[in-house]
Amino acid sequence: MPAVPRPNPADLPDSPYAAELRRADPRRRFSPQLEAEYLRGDLICNRALIRTICSFAVALSIGHTVEQIVVGRATALVLAQLALIVASSVALAWLAWTSAFERRYQPWANALVPMRSAVTAAHIAYVAAQGEVVALMTIPVMLISAFFFLGLRFRVALFSAALTLVCFVGATALYGVALPTTLRACVYLISTLVGGAIAAIQLERRSRTSFLESHLVAELAQRDALTGTKNRRVFNEHLTRVWQQAAADRRSLSILIIDVDHFKAYNDRYGHLAGDQALRRVARAVQTFAQRPLDVLARYGGEEFAAILYDVPGEEAKAIAERMRGAVMDLAIEHRGSRTAEVVTISIGVAAIEATDSRECQGALQLADQALYEAKVRGRNTVELMDDAEYRFLVTGVFPSNVAQLRRPGEVAAAYASGAGRAR
Ligand code: GH3
Ligand code: MG
Ligand code: MG
Repeated sequence: MPAVPRPNPADLPDSPYAAELRRADPRRRFSPQLEAEYLRGDLICNRALIRTICSFAVALSIGHTVEQIVVGRATALVLAQLALIVASSVALAWLAWTSAFERRYQPWANALVPMRSAVTAAHIAYVAAQGEVVALMTIPVMLISAFFFLGLRFRVALFSAALTLVCFVGATALYGVALPTTLRACVYLISTLVGGAIAAIQLERRSRTSFLESHLVAELAQRDALTGTKNRRVFNEHLTRVWQQAAADRRSLSILIIDVDHFKAYNDRYGHLAGDQALRRVARAVQTFAQRPLDVLARYGGEEFAAILYDVPGEEAKAIAERMRGAVMDLAIEHRGSRTAEVVTISIGVAAIEATDSRECQGALQLADQALYEAKVRGRNTVELMDDAEYRFLVTGVFPSNVAQLRRPGEVAAAYASGAGRAR
């Protein structure tokens, strides 16, 4: 099977994932926001495994406690050790299975796992001193699970494993385990610890790289390749989503369709590559006006962009569109082929309507398109606003037949109001 091509960070220079991928050491901590996202994703991803292992630990610790009581080895010290082991195992399993998992599991596991490992190591040394040497096999399993199965960060796992080792050695001396047995066990345990740590470092490196690459691929799938803005699919999905939200919150929604004026003439005069460059600059200039979380700006096709401004009423949306128009003029991209100005300009159609359940978001889009058409008819390099008044005619499917001849502001609305129109 051919290898899947890896995403190129250079394709999306403004992405935080690309920035991290360009760094030399992918195992280093990410920037704080990305680090939090990575750790949260990693923890959620490991939840099923953590649940299984924690449940297994509860069953094992309770089973062992019962066995110790039955065989009559449950001194007060042993019972205290086992009570701590069972209690910490139950607490971890409870956190793994409940809604507290995301917020509370990690901090509690950071404290409980090393403590449980230390007590278990001491208890196992005690059991081994009683002649049950086979119990020593439990310790490597504990070391491995700290690195791989319990969702601990590397440093905590390493600390837990080292503490286990120290407690084990201390307890064997205390309980009088034969020195050769302790030494042989230590060789195995240190090998397990070193091997586990190396494997954990490699796994974390792979997991971090794959986190960055998968998010970069997801981001690339949402962007337009030329301008880096969101693409039309994302725009349509976002529109459907915010439309429902605006209807629920009873908020207005403004949709802008932005079209570069006389762009065919620009390409004809300056060449397609210069046209591409101009489109990128226009995209960057208008993007700055749609930055809030529920806003979006996307390349809608060709030399057209579309924006959604959430909870922005008509006049305010028109003022923002005017600032977009000004920002593009300020770029001062020479356009001698334009019949409108000596620089590249844009026309913007703004549809500002109240979203309701009975209305369709596609209708709002159509209204913005109609407003853009008006802006073009009025001479380009201009902004045209249409709102609920015009939307009523859209709903009835009637538009003025003489819209192309209308020139003065207010005439379009007047024509709608008078019912002069044609069926679309
Ligand atoms: P109007 O003012 O009426 O909008 O005129 P226009 O020339 O901008 O509109 P028209 O629809 O006739 O032409 C759009 C042009 O945009 C045609 C096409 O060559 C150009 N275009 C579309 N996509 C791209 C692109 O990705 N790169 C470049 N360089 N040009 C593009
Ligand atoms: Mg155009
Ligand atoms: Mg166009």
